[in-house]
Amino acid sequence: MEFRNLKAQYESLKNEIDVNIQKVMSEGQFILGHQVQDLEKKLADFVGVKNCVCCANGTDAITLLLMAWGIGPGDAVFVPDITFIASAGAAAILGATPVFVDIDLKTYNMDCESLLNAIDIVKKDGRLKPRVIIAVDLFGLPANYEKISEIAAKKNLLVLEDGAQSFGGSFNNKRSCSFGNGAATSFFPAKPLGCYGDGGAIFTNDDGVKEKIISLRAQGRSSSDKYDNYQIGINSRLDTLQAAILQVKLDALIKVELKRVNEVALKYTEMLSSLKNRIALPCIPQNYYSAWAQYTILLENESVRNALKVYLEKHGIPTMIYYPKPMHKQTAFKDCIFKNEKLINSVKMAKTTLSLPISPYLTEEEQNEVVGRIKEFFKNN
Ligand SMILES: *Cc1c(COP(=O)(O)O)cnc(C)c1O
Repeated sequence: MEFRNLKAQYESLKNEIDVNIQKVMSEGQFILGHQVQDLEKKLADFVGVKNCVCCANGTDAITLLLMAWGIGPGDAVFVPDITFIASAGAAAILGATPVFVDIDLKTYNMDCESLLNAIDIVKKDGRLKPRVIIAVDLFGLPANYEKISEIAAKKNLLVLEDGAQSFGGSFNNKRSCSFGNGAATSFFPAKPLGCYGDGGAIFTNDDGVKEKIISLRAQGRSSSDKYDNYQIGINSRLDTLQAAILQVKLDALIKVELKRVNEVALKYTEMLSSLKNRIALPCIPQNYYSAWAQYTILLENESVRNALKVYLEKHGIPTMIYYPKPMHKQTAFKDCIFKNEKLINSVKMAKTTLSLPISPYLTEEEQNEVVGRIKEFFKNN
């Protein structure tokens, strides 16, 4: 069994993908060919945001937005303590200081009480200027943008939606990557919308920010003179090949995959509900729709989690631990001046979390096998 079955996806989309790849090869426009612009338009339309700019990966997408906003040394950037390292790393590499915020154990997303608390601590301390909230849509579920926007407005902060795991998700009928002042997503192969290599995109309604990012992703060049660079940028373009592949995958995501992956998730929740006293199941609040990058459960403690993982592996079922180490425990952040000591939920989550195989291509037999083995494990433990 595959943890996320990308081979089955390719088998089902092979004809269209192969045609698109051949077309790029014969046209010979390998960097920023017309397929990239076509894709940017389609992505922006789907998300419901004015501008989309594609780039080389999701980490760069976050970095480019922060660069366009002028974030750097002396700035505090609030990041959930449970996320992929890139959410915090993008701020740190620009010289800003990530400040870690606890998570909510029901949605696994940023806890707003903890966010308010962290902002107040930074303000009182006075060394850093609070600037940005990076809200991560963990495992596919959009963060609580109602509260986060309210806090941002009150505290005069920018909001960056890290939608790397949530492309296709929504909240109050607004799609993921439409929240905050700008959003970033990733097309890493295993994400809800993945290509066959690295890729990423930025979304914003702000035309000025869009223009700045178009320049920043191409070494900071001017729009009027290709060999005059008015600022220092990076090299972060999306390959035409990847855009051509993403065209097919975006259609499949919209037409088939989102619906199917939600059916799979719902079935897990139904089938596992008899174990509710032993397992915490993912909670999707009202008016939210998840893209289900992961189906993640919490076990009662670390040793039960580890034992279940070993048991499932023994029976050929792959699982993953997202994430085993909270941000505040990362070696790279050991000197980070703000170590919020009250990150209780994130510490607990790291010890008890387990992600099960999920994808739009997980078969009914595979899913029955996963659930059957989990039930078997709890019968004997
Ligand atoms: C994958 C991911 C990223 C980074 O994306 P890359 O394309 O791998 O650079 C950023 N944030 C989150 C939450 C992610 O899951």
